[in-house]
Amino acid sequence: MECVFCAISAGKIQAPRVHEDPRALAFLDVHPLARGHTLVVPRLHVERLEDLEPDYARAVWSAVHRLVPAVQRAAGAPATTVAVNNGPEAGQEVPHVHIHIVPRGSWDGAGSIHTMFQQRPGVSKQDMETIAGEIRKQMSPR
Ligand code: AMP
Repeated sequence: MECVFCAISAGKIQAPRVHEDPRALAFLDVHPLARGHTLVVPRLHVERLEDLEPDYARAVWSAVHRLVPAVQRAAGAPATTVAVNNGPEAGQEVPHVHIHIVPRGSWDGAGSIHTMFQQRPGVSKQDMETIAGEIRKQMSPR
């Protein structure tokens, strides 16, 4: 079965579009968490953020950068949560990269990212240095 976001990009499934360019498309989420909840996707089927080619990554994040103030103004919201569920273990249900832009206000009762986690690991200062070093080492060269 064809990917739903590829089908939207190809115009086979309708969704209210709010931005499009050759590499990125933005449309409204069909089950909005708030009025104006927008999804930004690459116009190429890629499941995970890290697999996006740099040109597509630039197009998608540039669209996010422009859309955030537009969504806030249109929705009358003072803030947004911008989020990516990257991989099924992180709650990704549609296996095509997408960035959620969700209008937020103090009225919505939703918390911060910290409220998603019931427990936190204790990470010592020393282990913070270790994992920071490991991340630096794992960064791919540009
Ligand atoms: P995620 O859980 O991060 O994979 O989010 C997938 C999002 O895609 C959900 O918020 C869905 O409501 C949304 N979605 C699924 N199908 C459609 C569709 N046909 N048009 C717009 N949004 C969709």
